[in-house]
Amino acid sequence: MHVHDSLVELMGNTPLVRLRKVTAGLAPQVLAKVEYFNPGGSVKDRIAIRMIDAAEESGELAPGGTIVEPTSGNTGVGLAIVAQERGYRCVFVCPDKVAKDKIDVLRAYGAEVVICPTAVSPEHPDSYYSVSDRLAAEIPGAWKPNQYTNQNNPRSHYETTGPELWEQTEGKITHFVAGIGTGGTITGTGRYLKEVSGGRVKIIGADPEGSVYSGGTGRPYLTEGVGEDIWPETYDRGICDEIIAVSDKDSFTMTRRLAREDALLVGGSCGMAVVAALRVAATAPADAVIVVLLPDGGRGYLSKIFNDEWMNQYGFGDQSTTEATAGDVLARKSGAGA
Ligand code: PMP
Repeated sequence: MHVHDSLVELMGNTPLVRLRKVTAGLAPQVLAKVEYFNPGGSVKDRIAIRMIDAAEESGELAPGGTIVEPTSGNTGVGLAIVAQERGYRCVFVCPDKVAKDKIDVLRAYGAEVVICPTAVSPEHPDSYYSVSDRLAAEIPGAWKPNQYTNQNNPRSHYETTGPELWEQTEGKITHFVAGIGTGGTITGTGRYLKEVSGGRVKIIGADPEGSVYSGGTGRPYLTEGVGEDIWPETYDRGICDEIIAVSDKDSFTMTRRLAREDALLVGGSCGMAVVAALRVAATAPADAVIVVLLPDGGRGYLSKIFNDEWMNQYGFGDQSTTEATAGDVLARKSGAGA
């Protein structure tokens, strides 16, 4: 019988898919590493399994223990899946800018979720960093993976994402583009690709305008899961050859185009990374092979990026396409796409 004993076995080994429509007019190939194929629906499954395995080995996480983590949702799902398999309790701490749909998902997996204000400094006692520290200190048997300092985060990408891309492109990859949140993805994958190619593969970070990685002050932006107001230990500041800042508006407009044109229903940080990848493609040689990593799926953003009223409220363009009468539908040209 062809059976997997656990979903945990299915983490990683995600497909590489050519972007065909949003790349119109550009010569280089742009290939998307589609991470929503992970069982938890995001790239974060990779770090969840690696961090938990290491904590079990070191004894930091013992049977009956509790996993406490500040997470914007995706890391929580990965941790919750592994925790269920192995019998751990999960307590997650999220900033209040995270979409409610994502928090509901964590609760559906059986995790307890504490929500904290986004608009306070990391040192503030109510910040999601401080609250998770306090819970981890006070719950007996608690272990905090801390994806912002845990070197098993970048290591998981060094051991899985990087080698997968090298194999999938038969060593032809020339550029790797990814958003930077904890920096684990770009640091681990970038390090592997630089090493294996003798420094030939260019590593390009994509960052929301306002975030520190692209020289911002940490001012607020709406793209979730990427950008920082602090410098995490999981990010190697020497890894990127270039960092491209992308506005929320451009990120979300591209996110919607990916769903409509290339049938990729993905999250806002994916649109951001694709905008950066297309900017790279616009000046790269025609034989370049550009890989862009798409961290998660779009279902967690239906009430935001894919909601016209929400988009219009922030001035992100005319999105008046969802409300339609039969007459409107008949009046539109078939195959008009957007
Ligand atoms: N996009 C989303 C939606 C994420 O949740 C994350 C992780 N915070 C990232 C991108 C960035 O990945 P990393 O933390 O590895 O830099």
